[in-house]
Amino acid sequence: KTATGLTSFNPRWVRVNALQTTLEDSLSSPTFHAFQEVGSVSDMFFFDVVRKTYYRKAEILPNILAIHPSHDITSSELYKSGKIILQSASSCLPAIMLDPPKGSMVVDGCAAPGNKTTHLAALVGSSGKIFAVERDRRRADILEMMITKAGAEGIVTTLKATDFTTIMEGHPAWQASYILLDPSCSGSGILQRVDWDISKLNLPSSDTTSSHPSKKKRKRDETLPNGSASQPEERETKQLEEEIQDDDTSRERLQSLSDFQVAIILHAFLFPNARRITYSTCSVHAEENEHVVARVLNSEIAKERGWRVQSRDENPLSTWHRRGLVGELSDLKSSLEEQRRVADGCIRVHRTDSLGGGFFVTCFTRQVDDKGQFG
Ligand code: SAM
Repeated sequence: KTATGLTSFNPRWVRVNALQTTLEDSLSSPTFHAFQEVGSVSDMFFFDVVRKTYYRKAEILPNILAIHPSHDITSSELYKSGKIILQSASSCLPAIMLDPPKGSMVVDGCAAPGNKTTHLAALVGSSGKIFAVERDRRRADILEMMITKAGAEGIVTTLKATDFTTIMEGHPAWQASYILLDPSCSGSGILQRVDWDISKLNLPSSDTTSSHPSKKKRKRDETLPNGSASQPEERETKQLEEEIQDDDTSRERLQSLSDFQVAIILHAFLFPNARRITYSTCSVHAEENEHVVARVLNSEIAKERGWRVQSRDENPLSTWHRRGLVGELSDLKSSLEEQRRVADGCIRVHRTDSLGGGFFVTCFTRQVDDKGQFG
């Protein structure tokens, strides 16, 4: 049990790869033959002490299932063939929030190992185009393997050993309409690594955590779910404080990560046809989350090019209850009412929310007409 008394179960999350199969076909395949659906994530921990074969569909996240973490799904045919992918529910939020239409052109600016790239590929489909940018050559090799396994080679072009901030006019990726940014962060929301692709691809032990300064394994909360959508504010703040105290990332490190994250977003703001950009971290620190949002919104580039945070009711995850922290947006040079609107346009996931780890995501948007003019 955590110090605040809040508790959670952490299932294993599975994304059904819509490039290769459907949710219905997966559930009726031999892999899920013995499985039964339960009414809530916590139920599978109560009911299934022996067989561990229960699943739960994520309510607001299409094609995403929770299963018992002790069930070895990695030996199943569905997993080995890339029809299902082990990806935490929180890590699925950015692609869903970006919501690129079928056939659209997308840039994944910080792509390896490729969970979100392959998720984007499933959303844009075979008529879409994705540029997956990865600065680190070795991680880009893993990204390519993941793309192949997911059956997304025809959709994704990998830009290996490429810095996102060097993509400029003249590069084909410069014309993208949708950009997903999931840059390196402190990793302070991570519960444990789920490097499904890497372990199964028999690579030499890979530095998948190289972007995370704190490489220690995160503690897994092992008690009861908090689940409720209506926790008192005070309790929630206390819980977040506890998560922050649990992390040892230094102030200096947070500042340098924050500067880097701001630079990545400001570069994305320059793409001439971009109409939506998601920014996400698996960090619990406001320095990497709300503070970054305030800094980029205060920039001249954002004002000149009409970038704003998408309102809660505009995005597909409007029903998720935990939003950004308005108190952490006080540097935003705008009215309190606007600060509240921006906070509401951000999503936070706590480590105790059973979605697979602490997370932050928001979506920047602007109007772009058919001629590529914004306003
Ligand atoms: N989105 C990935 C996923 O879901 O599998 C995880 C991305 S990880 C948090 C951040 C990645 O961004 C790392 O692989 C890192 O090497 C890469 N990266 C950092 N800075 C970059 C830059 N300027 N350009 C391109 N890639 C960068």
